[in-house]
Amino acid sequence: MEFIKLDNAGDGEKYININWALMNQCNYECSYCHPDLNSGSIKALEYDVLVSFINRVFDYCESLGRKPYFELGGGEVTLLRWFKELVWDIHNRGGLVSIISNASKSLNWWRENVPALHGVYLSYHSEYVDDDKFVDVAKILADSPTTNLTVNVMMNPQRFEQCVSFANRLKNEVVCEISMQPLYHGFGHGGLTKRYEYTDIQDEIMKKFRGHSVNKNIPKPRGLVSVEMPNGEFIERSSFDLLVEQEINFVGWSCNAGIENIVITFKGDIYRAWCMQDGPIGTVFDKDFDFPIEPTLCKTKICQCGADICSTKIKNPISRHIENNIIMKTG
Ligand code: SF4
Ligand code: SF4
Repeated sequence: MEFIKLDNAGDGEKYININWALMNQCNYECSYCHPDLNSGSIKALEYDVLVSFINRVFDYCESLGRKPYFELGGGEVTLLRWFKELVWDIHNRGGLVSIISNASKSLNWWRENVPALHGVYLSYHSEYVDDDKFVDVAKILADSPTTNLTVNVMMNPQRFEQCVSFANRLKNEVVCEISMQPLYHGFGHGGLTKRYEYTDIQDEIMKKFRGHSVNKNIPKPRGLVSVEMPNGEFIERSSFDLLVEQEINFVGWSCNAGIENIVITFKGDIYRAWCMQDGPIGTVFDKDFDFPIEPTLCKTKICQCGADICSTKIKNPISRHIENNIIMKTG
């Protein structure tokens, strides 16, 4: 990894990111997904607990002059009884909501709720998906002027050809961002360990594939980073680029996870990031939860999630970029 600093780019500075695993129930049972992520073994939080924590987040963001950006995932979050109310409530209060979904809800559900959704990450799961329906959902989302659509084709090595063929079809039929996501062992079970085996040719296909570049002129709170090279040059990348190119080992770096973002588990435990390396920093039930104000030192080999990757990081924690123990933004 050549770069020495990574800043959350786009509109990142205007938002606090809350990445929330709302429930572990799913209508699929993908072979590469741990039951912890799809079995429904954990009861989803009561709606009033959820709303009370969301109120606290809005108050905190207001005190900083920022807005909250919620990224909601599961399981399959659209199965939650009160999910529509939740996303409309956040939207109507000026927050942003993005969701991760397998696209299985009806076309009418998507038409009705797309105006409240700032972003949708549709995941293509080759063992269960209905390709035609998936393309129709993607078209509804791509046509919305206020919704970012990213499709992640989960590159199941057992069905590699099917995944490549679908990614190419989608690229032909829908103008949206598409990435081929390599699979990792440990998906949905306390941290990724190592990648599934891919041949060199498959690896090359995944690295080279790009969807469309779409700019809808709406905020970009997460997903873009600006990396600083040793010669002082800055290059804008996406978190997906870094993931696919395996530039995600920040061990020894100082990291603003927890300051710029938090993550929340199915049970309501709060961590700085999905690496969970420093243990929980609170729960959504705590009346006195405070966001961290100091960076952490990375000890985790794989920075697994786009939201975590985007938090500001610096290679040499003793440097001109540190002031009062905080990593300063470049520029
Ligand atoms: S990978 Fe996603 S869609 Fe597949 S079973 Fe797990 S949560 Fe459900
Ligand atoms: S693994 Fe955790 S501590 Fe390390 S860079 Fe990623 S978010 Fe930061």
